[in-house]
Amino acid sequence: MAQQRVLIVEDNVDNYELVRFLLARAGYEVLAASNGMEGVETARRELPDLILMDLSMPELDGWDAARKLKADERTRKIPVLALTAHTLPGDRKRAIEAGCDGYISKPINVASFEKLVSTLVRQAREELQG
Ligand code: MN
Repeated sequence: MAQQRVLIVEDNVDNYELVRFLLARAGYEVLAASNGMEGVETARRELPDLILMDLSMPELDGWDAARKLKADERTRKIPVLALTAHTLPGDRKRAIEAGCDGYISKPINVASFEKLVSTLVRQAREELQG
């Protein structure tokens, strides 16, 4: 099987570096974008296996980027996990309503991160094949 690819869409360099490190250590190929617009363009071009999406970003925020990805036939089936520091349940609800398939709370729980990512990538692959 080809190396699985995860796109990180995140404008904060420290958060990006942590997520990139965890993904690379777990054996994923990492793609990066630093705002929602760049994220949507990269997703359309590269068709990654999973997208990790920050919510508060310049140019296009994560909610609107998720909406664009889910409205596009080419990228609709790629799972999107919101990376959110937002502690209000309403912000997570908004992320799900925008089309995100789940969320990861910041600060990131390193122990559960890899398991969550691998579960979602596997589910997405099974859905595409089945
Ligand atoms: Mn941000």
